[in-house]
Amino acid sequence: MCEGHSHDHASTENNSTIWDDSDRPADDLTVSRRGLMQALGATAAAASLAPLGAAPAGATTRVEAHKRTVNPWKAYRYHLSGDHHIHTQYSRDAMHSVEKQVKKGTEYGLDWMVITDHGGTSHQKYSVDLITPDIKAARRLFRNTAIFQGLEWNVPGAEHATVILPPHAQTQSVLKQFELLFDGTVLADAKKITNANASDGEPFAVAGLKWLADQVTSGVVPMALMFANHPTRKGLDSPAEVRAWRDAAPGIAMGWEGAPGHQAAGISAKSGGPGSGRGYYNSAFDEKYSYAGYRATATENPLRTYGGFDWATARVGGLWDSLLAEGKPWWITANSDSHQNFLETFVGGNVTADGITLDSAVHAATGKYANAIDKGVPITSYGDYWPGYYSRTVVSAGDRSYLTVMKALQAGLILTTHGGIIDGADIRVTTTDDVVGVTTGGRTFVNKGGTVTATITIDLASRANYAGFIPLLKKVDLISGPITGPVKDQQTMFAPNTTVQKTFEVSKTSGQVVFTYTYKNVGDSFYLRYRGSDGKVLAPNGVDPAMDVVGDSDPWKDLWFYTNPVFIDAI
Ligand SMILES: [Zn+2]
Ligand SMILES: [Zn+2]
Repeated sequence: MCEGHSHDHASTENNSTIWDDSDRPADDLTVSRRGLMQALGATAAAASLAPLGAAPAGATTRVEAHKRTVNPWKAYRYHLSGDHHIHTQYSRDAMHSVEKQVKKGTEYGLDWMVITDHGGTSHQKYSVDLITPDIKAARRLFRNTAIFQGLEWNVPGAEHATVILPPHAQTQSVLKQFELLFDGTVLADAKKITNANASDGEPFAVAGLKWLADQVTSGVVPMALMFANHPTRKGLDSPAEVRAWRDAAPGIAMGWEGAPGHQAAGISAKSGGPGSGRGYYNSAFDEKYSYAGYRATATENPLRTYGGFDWATARVGGLWDSLLAEGKPWWITANSDSHQNFLETFVGGNVTADGITLDSAVHAATGKYANAIDKGVPITSYGDYWPGYYSRTVVSAGDRSYLTVMKALQAGLILTTHGGIIDGADIRVTTTDDVVGVTTGGRTFVNKGGTVTATITIDLASRANYAGFIPLLKKVDLISGPITGPVKDQQTMFAPNTTVQKTFEVSKTSGQVVFTYTYKNVGDSFYLRYRGSDGKVLAPNGVDPAMDVVGDSDPWKDLWFYTNPVFIDAI
């Protein structure tokens, strides 16, 4: 599950063209598309398992649960590290070429990357066409790396989101059309909505996701995915909007960045860092556009990261848990959001008189900056890390094809890590009625009164991370909560019955650790998930992550991993 594994795979993999983008015509993807439709069917079926009718009075059990599983556990051959949020010189606020970003990501152990420049009028008009050949060239140069063409969509009325498409003859035109019709900035420039953050854009967000789903079902492209980025950075993504996206396009809108990029931004000025908020989560509540429920209280602030993860993911019983308690898929990832990287020596190819600020007039006029220039002096104000350097989204896949990586993202076969805190983790959940069991993203069942056994096998870090030390995992939390079905109030943002079920202390410092927990006499449907930490920075309760301090958060001294959930239906 580490980069070493992927290198081993690469060396034993004879077919070096598996990542190849041959720009096949649509007909050549027929078989893949058939497989995809089956995958989508499975996802739709999983979604339809959510309770639709009224539960018996007092029952928290989902009455429509079925005696079936999705995603039965099997030994996946590949654990592929990736990053679905990377910027280039085609973003108004970034500067590196596609080739440079891919080269660095490959050096830092990534198997797959999604290039996601910001949507916008000049990007839509110029950049999509300009970057397409660059991405194709990078695929030829880095043949063992999957390089997806995507977009950082300005979700109308909300934050940003990654849109991922596979290599395909229609990818370029679908991205361009999607951006023209549904990007918040493009719509605002065209005076179709008040501005990118205003609520009159919200219907365009839902329509955009449905439009993407239509492109898949009608066979224009074989697959499309959306993951919301930095969800509560400014408090723009209300719970109701997130639910609306998820429910508008199951199988397309799959989750969000559990951990945002820009993880170096919180390094203090006195330590030679940018001295901002970790993840650039340093915004004040916006009285005009932030969702009221995200206003800070005496004890917490949803507009901050906690242990480097977004508040909506990090808070036990918070917004992520309230989505999972509905029994529907919603997955988390961790990415670099690399624009300009901490201590690198490059500045943009077009800068203003101060010698470092990007000259956005050039981007507005051409959709691109000239190649970045090496000034030979490390720049301490940049707040990002190179792709793969700190954050990883590790997917489990049976092969190394583009569509398989996307299907793994769609299925929740995803582990997120920071700073190489672990090499990998394998989750298996079995029951007295399902001895095969499932792994993350999966759904199994147990007859009431039965037993559910959850096991996590962790490969402890076996090598130094890019800060030069071997991280030590100190504890693992098993978190679980009841599945209570769809909420009546779409703004529901807490799942108060979700708790840390058990904290496992880790005493070993190398090799593998296995932790098993048994839920006995199970009466209600529930879900479970794991997270683990180096234990260096914790909340006063000694269990939860602490709120990151704006201006003083060293990301290497506060490392976490998070897994995605498993659902268990009690029937
Ligand atoms: Zn963004
Ligand atoms: Zn971004």
